[in-house]
Amino acid sequence: MFRSTMLRSAEITATITQAATDAGFDLVGIAPVEDAPELEYFPRWIAQGHAGEMKYLEARDEQGRLKRASLSHAAPWARSVVVCAINYNTGQPYSTQAPSDSTTNKGRGWISRYAWGQQDYHDSVMQRLRQVEAALKRACGDDDLVTRCYVDTGPIVERVAAKYAGIGWIGKNTCILNQRLGSWLFLGVILTSLDLDPDLELGLPAPDRCGTCTRCIDACPTDALIAPYQLDSNRCISYLTIEKRGSLPQDEELRSGMGRHIFGCDICQDVCPWNRKAPATKAAEFQPREELVNPALDWLAEINAEEFSRTFRGSPVKRANRAGLRRNAVIAMGNSGDRKFLPLLEKLAADEDEVVSEGAGWAIRKLT
Ligand code: SF4
Ligand code: SF4
Repeated sequence: MFRSTMLRSAEITATITQAATDAGFDLVGIAPVEDAPELEYFPRWIAQGHAGEMKYLEARDEQGRLKRASLSHAAPWARSVVVCAINYNTGQPYSTQAPSDSTTNKGRGWISRYAWGQQDYHDSVMQRLRQVEAALKRACGDDDLVTRCYVDTGPIVERVAAKYAGIGWIGKNTCILNQRLGSWLFLGVILTSLDLDPDLELGLPAPDRCGTCTRCIDACPTDALIAPYQLDSNRCISYLTIEKRGSLPQDEELRSGMGRHIFGCDICQDVCPWNRKAPATKAAEFQPREELVNPALDWLAEINAEEFSRTFRGSPVKRANRAGLRRNAVIAMGNSGDRKFLPLLEKLAADEDEVVSEGAGWAIRKLT
């Protein structure tokens, strides 16, 4: 009896692995549902205000417990987590490979690598995840089986599950890192009521290979990595350019540190030695749209509602909103050191959007 249950579990694990490969995932692993030590820090991180205005991270259950602090609270029925990862890296140079004042990048902004693709990764990773979920259901043949698929939206800290599924280790830059693929990985998770055998081939949990390296911490321009493995979102350029609504904080160091970033920031991944030889993805939907790599700042500062909607339909960039993207573009102009932007900034200082006009005023002062 025990032997046949084990055999069945191993068969289902093999089916999941095959289905994930067929769906185009580069890595797949299975983690048990248990409270990992990494999650003990989460309530403190929230209490210290490091999540900024990202209120969704503070979602609580009926007893007032933080959902993301324990999967056993948020999904008491879940027994295992299937974690799938897909590489989104492309052959384009890293943001740190050419300084922002080089001829190529002069007057150009930076959109984070993950947002260059043809399709929002939430949708494309979810489509692939559904294929794995369907194969799991077929293999299991149990009508009572419960599954839930999530790409960033679940009551779960995906990178912690990924660590215990053997996908990689959590680096000092707080990203999941795989020894072979680096850190350019999208994660998707399937919670299931099934007790699944972890795939021991990947090794659980993935060992930490950061060693004595501190490159990511040293390179962060806004000191957002306040300690190894600890991020203060309020100082992170990704948070400031994507999640922060309204005007940016009146903090000179922070605004200057944003450099030419207008959507996200890749610096702490660009400098990571494990990304030096990161392979490029084979997935067609992650191939970069030319206009999103080193985009022109004046184009984005003046983009109208119709063009914004057309350009960023189905793109993660729309999360920043048009006002946020324009605000970020004028701040980047201020940081460019290029006085050719002054006439446009003078015009934008009278923009009807106060967030843009405030940013333009700051940029003019910075340039003059
Ligand atoms: S994404 Fe940029 S700002 Fe945020 S921690 Fe990494 S280097 Fe710092
Ligand atoms: S840069 Fe160094 S310390 Fe930071 S994540 Fe990479 S290996 Fe770890």
